[in-house]
Amino acid sequence: MPSDHLPEIGRPAGELLAELARLRDADLPVRGGQVTAYVYDTGREAVHDLAATAYAEMLEVNCLDPTAFPSVVALERQIVGAVADRLGGGSGVFTSGGTESIMLAVKAARDAHPVDGRPEIVLPATAHPAFHKAAHYLGLEVVHVPVDASFRADPAGTAAALSPRTVLVVASAPSYPHGVMDPVPEIAAIAASAGVRCHVDACVGGWVLPWLRDTGRDVPPFDLSVPGVTSLSCDLHKYGYAPKGASVVLFADESLRRHAYFASAGWPGYTVINAGVQSSRSAGPLGAAWATLNAIGAQGYRDLAGNAMRTAERLIAGVAEIPGLRVLGRPVVPLVAVTSDDPSLDVFVIADEARSRGWFFQPQLSYQGIPPNLHFTLTGVSDIDALLTALADATKAARAAGPPDVPSGLVEALATLDLDTVDDAGFAALLASVGVDLSNGGDPEMATVNAVLNALPPATREELLIRFLSALYT
Ligand SMILES: *Cc1c(COP(=O)(O)O)cnc(C)c1O
Repeated sequence: MPSDHLPEIGRPAGELLAELARLRDADLPVRGGQVTAYVYDTGREAVHDLAATAYAEMLEVNCLDPTAFPSVVALERQIVGAVADRLGGGSGVFTSGGTESIMLAVKAARDAHPVDGRPEIVLPATAHPAFHKAAHYLGLEVVHVPVDASFRADPAGTAAALSPRTVLVVASAPSYPHGVMDPVPEIAAIAASAGVRCHVDACVGGWVLPWLRDTGRDVPPFDLSVPGVTSLSCDLHKYGYAPKGASVVLFADESLRRHAYFASAGWPGYTVINAGVQSSRSAGPLGAAWATLNAIGAQGYRDLAGNAMRTAERLIAGVAEIPGLRVLGRPVVPLVAVTSDDPSLDVFVIADEARSRGWFFQPQLSYQGIPPNLHFTLTGVSDIDALLTALADATKAARAAGPPDVPSGLVEALATLDLDTVDDAGFAALLASVGVDLSNGGDPEMATVNAVLNALPPATREELLIRFLSALYT
């Protein structure tokens, strides 16, 4: 039984490892391609085993002081160099993930360009929430620009959104929800002509687009070689297939990179110099990312990217054969968003039906007129025939079941409820009333919850999600 206090006498290793394995039984599988979000499997067991060994080798090395642990500098220079070599040059920082890379790019842009009043960041509606998080943490205001009918950033809208307080304009290559490419050269040119910086979010695309281009596919310009692009983020723990905790942020020039850094001599202890958000940090992810990149190599990444994209294209072709379903936009990477055009066919019910058949398809809520949909992040390991069969079966079952029953009045009640008057236990009781059991970490049957969230405005969704997280951990 899990226990919420420290044992007086240390427990035996075998027992602890068995308990971890038992806990993991409830998790979605991280290999095999039946979970089409969150995880990236090469299908090459030896690569993942090597990454684990390299991770363990570097586990206790502390990135806090690169002069004490020069291996950190050597590995980071190689990784950042290899990424810059493929993505238009620049100097960079190895970070814990896309969110930290974006945080540093936003900080650098803010500090390099002081403005009168609150600085602003111009985002297409499809930009990743990490930019909202960075703005929230760093005291910037978000100026949101709607995307066009193909879900791409709108250059004219972006130009109109600039103000004397703008410090950064963002484009995604591609955006996560639909895998479509923003017009990076146009957006970067608008930013440059206004004298502001432009960040390209290639967190998910940065380590798949260059390899797809190598294999002869049409990949529009998006990296630091594009005039006006001043920084770029590329996650190695996505299509780099490294274990989580690996991303790179590149800056067009060293002086901009220095604005990402932080130093403090303002206390009587050791001197602090940090390139990233964290201070003490394991070099495990660094060692694992270095090993993964070098073990796969350019030819390996070309093969993996080509296989993943072929899988995505077969999904797109297969969806066209399933009545009621439709792909949103034209993905340039192996990310596919599938929506329903049939009011009796609810995508959240399809997700639950698929889950009961052993597949995880990621629900995405409606936003600014973009319909609710299911997102697929594909790799070459997904058995696409089995996936399409599961999707077709789940769709048939979802149509027969109809849309979820949302208890009458619930959406209105939630929209007007003052959540400050409800504690975590009260909120858990509220969730139980719509069939969500928090004791096992939420419930795989999420259609009702998703339908309720989908019917509420984003600000209310956010309040409810924070309460959900708090209740989950209480
Ligand atoms: C995944 C992703 C991020 C955030 O990355 P994390 O590693 O989850 O912090 C940012 N932007 C895009 C486009 C992404 O796909």
